[in-house]
Amino acid sequence: MHVKSGDTVVVIAGKDKGKKGKVLRVFPNENRVIVEGVNMLTKHKKAQGPTIPGGIVKMEGAINASNVMYFCEKDKTGVRVGHNLLADGSKVRVCKKCGEVLDK
Ligand SMILES: [Zn+2]
Repeated sequence: MHVKSGDTVVVIAGKDKGKKGKVLRVFPNENRVIVEGVNMLTKHKKAQGPTIPGGIVKMEGAINASNVMYFCEKDKTGVRVGHNLLADGSKVRVCKKCGEVLDK
C-alpha cells in the first residue's frame, strides 16, 4: 500500500475526484481505503432502543486505493510515492517529485 492511515491524500478518480482528505482506515487485503469526507454514504438507521434514536447517519465508504494519491504538502499536489532503504535497514516513503521523506 502506498498510503496508510493518517496520510493526507487526494482523490484522482471517481465522483469525489479532486477531494482531499485524511486516510481513516486502510484495508490492505482489498486494496481499499476510507478517506475522511470522501464517498459519503447515507444510511437510514433504525432506533436501537429507547435511548438510541434512529435517523440518517452519514459515513464514509471505502474506495479503491489506486484512486488516491499521497498529497505532498511541499508540492501541494498528489504525488507518487517511492520507497527508500535507510542505512539502518528501515524503509521510508519518499515523495517521487520533491524527494521529501514522508515517514518521519
Ligand atoms: Zn513532494
